[in-house]
Amino acid sequence: MSIIRDTKGILLGMWTTWKRIFRRPLTIQYPEIKRVPYPRFRARIVLTRDPDGGERCVACYLCSAACPVDCISMQSAEREDGRRYAPWFRINFARCIYCGLCAEACPTMAIQMTPEYEFCTRNIMSLVYEKEDLLIDGCGKSPDYNFYRHAGIGVTQPRGEGLNEEPPLDMRSLQP
Ligand code: SF4
Ligand code: SF4
Repeated sequence: MSIIRDTKGILLGMWTTWKRIFRRPLTIQYPEIKRVPYPRFRARIVLTRDPDGGERCVACYLCSAACPVDCISMQSAEREDGRRYAPWFRINFARCIYCGLCAEACPTMAIQMTPEYEFCTRNIMSLVYEKEDLLIDGCGKSPDYNFYRHAGIGVTQPRGEGLNEEPPLDMRSLQP
């Protein structure tokens, strides 16, 4: 029984080899030929803006808390109109493992992964990106989303004027 089983195993292995031996090789001669990654490929991280141009990041620290390697740091502050922001925001790409947990945790879609993978360097200190290196002028993958039109109620707009928000209830109207 074992001879039959072993022979079958060898023949199957040889069949697999023969099937692939005449196929074109899959090796890509990088960097002469560059592979185009899928849009959801996780590489360089950016900070995006709302459609009205405002910074999406509200410095809530959720991305920093979610990061398994502690490579995100920032400071939070508040503008005069009550809107929160990060005066400085730093990502150490030398430590980042591109897991995407920061982007998953972000409630405002501010932090996003991009498919840009060609930014390696031998100078490890140049992989520490500051806010001015991270903040882009566009909205990234969520062009219509505006956090402060859904949340931040009463901060940048009067209560009842947010997207899909109902006017505040007058509690006195419920009294008998
Ligand atoms: S991709 Fe992962 S490791 Fe990199 S900053 Fe985000 S949470 Fe941290
Ligand atoms: S990028 Fe997102 S999760 Fe991180 S601090 Fe800003 S709003 Fe919070």
